[in-house]
Amino acid sequence: MGLVKSEGIVLKAGRLRETSKIVNLYTDRFGKLTVVAKGALKPGSRFGADLEVCNHILAVIYRREGKEIDYLSSTDILNDFPKTKAELPKWTAACGACELVDKATSGEEAQAQLFASLLGALKGIEDSASGRVAVHFWHFVLRLLEILGYRPDFSSCVKCRKMAEEDEVLFSAADGGLVCRNCSIGAEFYHKLSKSTAGKVSLLQRGRSENLSRINLTRSEKEEIRRVLPAFWKYHLGDKLDLKSFEFMEKVAGDRVR
Ligand SMILES: [Zn+2]
Repeated sequence: MGLVKSEGIVLKAGRLRETSKIVNLYTDRFGKLTVVAKGALKPGSRFGADLEVCNHILAVIYRREGKEIDYLSSTDILNDFPKTKAELPKWTAACGACELVDKATSGEEAQAQLFASLLGALKGIEDSASGRVAVHFWHFVLRLLEILGYRPDFSSCVKCRKMAEEDEVLFSAADGGLVCRNCSIGAEFYHKLSKSTAGKVSLLQRGRSENLSRINLTRSEKEEIRRVLPAFWKYHLGDKLDLKSFEFMEKVAGDRVR
């Protein structure tokens, strides 16, 4: 083990004793690590403001064999996302993305892919017009679900594979996707959503982060997505997190996360 170098994104940062910080870092090489930055809260610390949530850093880490906590030796800032920190809707979405990763990962998942997706989302949020933050956030949530092994199917009925013909379709978190009228008979709980919302989610799911600019979400589509995707997340990953990220988005951002 010993000294290793990796890029990382700060998912969570807290105080440890008087002058140190304890940080959850999602690294491209090792997945999620918990690291201690000794003296990070002392004036003039070598870590400066590098360890704020959402920052993309280059970290030199002292890894300890078999220990849960490693030590941060030094950091360089690669991107501190200034526009994101200056605008509440962007900041809410970026912190939400980091929180979801923090809660849902253990470091054993597809690390480089997850790291690249999170970094892509943070850059997308930083560079987007504030009205387009939701497109980047939900695209990331769908990517994260897929990387974690949960891919909701918004393309056709998960039971009979028929495409929906009605304007309103049904979504079942338990069944993992859309369910047509025929197949839904006798079943317990469904979310209704418009066919246009299902189509947009499917586009977000298949779209690459570079060409999200072609996707626009209306206000009602955003509202439906805010009901359906957190419900799906909660059903499949609920025991792993208390969903603060989604609640936070509802409360603080509401319609402002557009
Ligand atoms: Zn069906």
